[in-house]
This record gives sequence, C-alpha cells and structure tokens, in this order.
Amino acid sequence: MAIIIHKYGGTSVGTPEKIKNVARRIKKVIDAGNEVVVVVSAMGHTTDELIDLMHKVTDSPDPREYDMLVSTGEQVSAALLAMALQSAGCPAVSLTGGQAGVVTEDIYRKARIKEIKLDRIKKELKGGRVVVITGFQGIDSKGDIITIGRGGSDTSAVAMAAALKADVCDIYTDVDGVYTTDPRIVPEARKLKHISYEEMLELASLGAQVLHPRSVEVASLYGIVIHLRSSLKDDEGTYIGKAPRLTSFARGKEAGKMEKKEAVRGIALDENIAKIGILHVPDKPGTAAKLFGALAKGKINVDMIVQSIHSQGTLADMAFTVERTDMKRAVEVAKKIAAELKAEGVVSDPDVSKVSLVGVGMVSQPGTASKMFETLASEKINIQMITTSEIKISCVIKAEQGKQAVRALHKAFGLEKVA
Ligand code: ADP
Ligand code: ASP
Ligand code: MG
Repeated sequence: MAIIIHKYGGTSVGTPEKIKNVARRIKKVIDAGNEVVVVVSAMGHTTDELIDLMHKVTDSPDPREYDMLVSTGEQVSAALLAMALQSAGCPAVSLTGGQAGVVTEDIYRKARIKEIKLDRIKKELKGGRVVVITGFQGIDSKGDIITIGRGGSDTSAVAMAAALKADVCDIYTDVDGVYTTDPRIVPEARKLKHISYEEMLELASLGAQVLHPRSVEVASLYGIVIHLRSSLKDDEGTYIGKAPRLTSFARGKEAGKMEKKEAVRGIALDENIAKIGILHVPDKPGTAAKLFGALAKGKINVDMIVQSIHSQGTLADMAFTVERTDMKRAVEVAKKIAAELKAEGVVSDPDVSKVSLVGVGMVSQPGTASKMFETLASEKINIQMITTSEIKISCVIKAEQGKQAVRALHKAFGLEKVA
C-alpha cells in the first residue's frame, strides 16, 4: 500500500463546493487502495484577511500572537475537509501541525521545520483514516504554535513527503503546472512538462509565487519529485526534479537537439522589493562589513548589492534591495551607519520591481544578458541595478514597468514556442 501526499492551496479549498470536490478526489485515491495524507492551506484569502484584522488592532503585533492568529485559517479548512471526507464515506481526521508532530525552530513567523514525529500520523493511517494536516505551521520546543513563512504550506507538504518516505508530492493549485512565466501576466506562457530543482528554486526565490522556495529546497535534499498540477483537472502537470529520459529525448521529434538547451527557461517578477542607496561612503576596507553587519543584526534580508566607484576615487555609492515590508527598518539602520561613516545621505525607493531570466543553459550560450538589456531598452525601460549568476540575470526597474518588461522579454526569447 502506497502513502500518497496531496497538498491543496487556498483557491483549491476556497469554497464549500471546492472542499467537497477535493474530498471526491481523495476518495478516488483511497478507493484505489492507497493511504492518503493531505496538507491544506487556509481557504481563499483567509490569511490576508486575518492580517488585515490584526492591523486594525495594532501596528506592532507581538510575533507570538501573530502566529497564534494567522495559523487559525488552516485549522478551518482542515476540519471542513475532514468533515467532507467523512460525509463522502471516507473516515478522516484533521490534525494541527503540533498534533501531527511537526516540530519547528523556536522562531516566530518564519521558522524552519526541524523534524516530524510520525507516531500520531502512523496511528491514524493504521486506523484506516485519511489524515488532513494544517499546512504552514508546527510547534516549537515550548509548545507554542509557530508559522513557517507566507506560502509555506508547500514546504509543509514536501517535508511530510520526506518524513513518510514518499517518492512524489502532489501539489494541487489553481494553475495546471509551472509555466514559462506567470500566465496571469502573459496568457501565451507555455506550460513546462519538467523543470530541474535548480531552475525551479531560482524562479521561486526570484518571485514566481507558484511554489514556496523552501519546498523546492527540501524536495531536492530528499530526492522527492514535486508534481504541481490543477485541482480541477486530472491532466498531468509539471514534474519538478525528475528529468525526462534522455535516450528517447534524443530521438523522435527531439532528434538533432542532443546538446541544444534553451538558454532561458522561465521569467520571474518580484513586485515586493524596495531599493536603498547610501551616497558617497568612504571607499575603504570595512565599510560594507559595517553596513551589512548592522542589517543582518536587525534580521533584515538583503538581496541585490551594487557598489559603484565615485569619480573622486575615495568615495563610493552603495545600493541594495530588501523586501518592501522591511524598507522602513532598513532605512533606519542605513541612516545610523551612514552618519557613523560620514556618508552624504541615504535614499530609498519602494516603487521598484525585479525582473529575472532563469535557465541552466545560459552559462553555455553567450548573448543572453545583452539581449535582455536590448529588449528593455527598446521598451524604454531604464535598468537601475543588475546582478547575474551562472543561471540567472536580474534587473531592478520601475515597478510600473514590471509587467511590460515580462511580456517583452517573454516574446523576445520566444518562450511561447514549443522548445
Ligand atoms: P496556492 O494558493 O495553490 O498555493 P498560489 O497563488 O500560491 O497558489 O500560486 C499559484 C499562482 O502562482 C498562479 O495562480 C499563478 O498566477 C502564479 N504564478 C507565478 N508564476 C508562475 C509560473 N511560472 N507558473 C505558474 N504559475 C505562476
Ligand atoms: N495560508 C498561508 C499563506 O497564505 C500559507 C499558504 O497558503 O501556503 O501564506
Ligand atoms: Mg502558494
């Protein structure tokens, strides 16, 4: 008997009808003789609504109470799904993260999962019940409810698959796979049959919200294939981490393409960033260490960093990006350090976005960066910052031009065409 792991996202359990639809899907898998563990997100936009509610009560929420509040959404959908399963004649039990044995670090709001103690889950499965587990949460060493970061139910599900030694984790969502870019921005985007862990991790980390980046990390660590698919169709979705068999790939309609790989596999847009600049800092050893050390101490994640030399030779300008919600705190830290370093001042801009091209084939095919810059130039989009790695190129641009940039780049690199 195989253990099958399903994860259903917010839209897939967004209404009572959709919850009943999920129950019917699970019943089919049970009737085929499998054991099923289901991880669910909160219904629809429940988590956002809980956060809005919180802001009506306080501007500075206590992190422990934040977790207490936002974790409740998943409890609603888990209990409702268990009831829908029972009504469909399928014995089921819902468990909170803590009841399911999900132990996290002692950090509120974005803890990592440390381990999953399987005793309770195994007992329920043995009793012939479908186990429905709340995603996005666990408990810490004190027994407090802890959440693992927005969008984290994907990671809960993949971690569950790893603990239960499943080979595949089925993640059901409102799209039928991973596309070359967000199909809400580019309707011509193409569904990918397969994508490597490396490329998916980059796309997810660079803003493609379709998967929580840490779920891809856990999947690659434990060799779990993620099958990302639609909760409304039975079609195959996208396999993440499982490469197609090369022997058949090199034959048939792929003949002659043995070493040919598209340079760009996908495009991501991150609309949740802000840019901060420190002007005219003394260009001497220790400056960057002081600034970024202070930001790290304040638990502010810094993403892109660019330092440019100033004409006088003794001064430099530094710019970096942070998550938009961290901008205010980052500016405060930067101002303090700027005063200590006798820099000219600090500037900040929340109206920026980051557009990125991702592809492992990029490294062996020159010209990708220049084509990206030419495309943005022809759209009159100014590039404010650039970073590159072997498999990605990112540009910071004006926020209002983000979607236009994605559409132009998708077309320029011919991503709508079958590879
Ligand atoms: P869930 O609630 O199921 O976790 P999310 O809203 O978190 O779903 O993620 C699914 C959404 O991700 C899609 O509706 C789609 O608009 C967006 N998305 C962004 N980039 C991509 C991409 N490259 N491929 C598919 N979907 C994407
Ligand atoms: N409900 C949580 C969120 O909205 C977790 C998730 O959906 O994955 O962030
Ligand atoms: Mg999600």
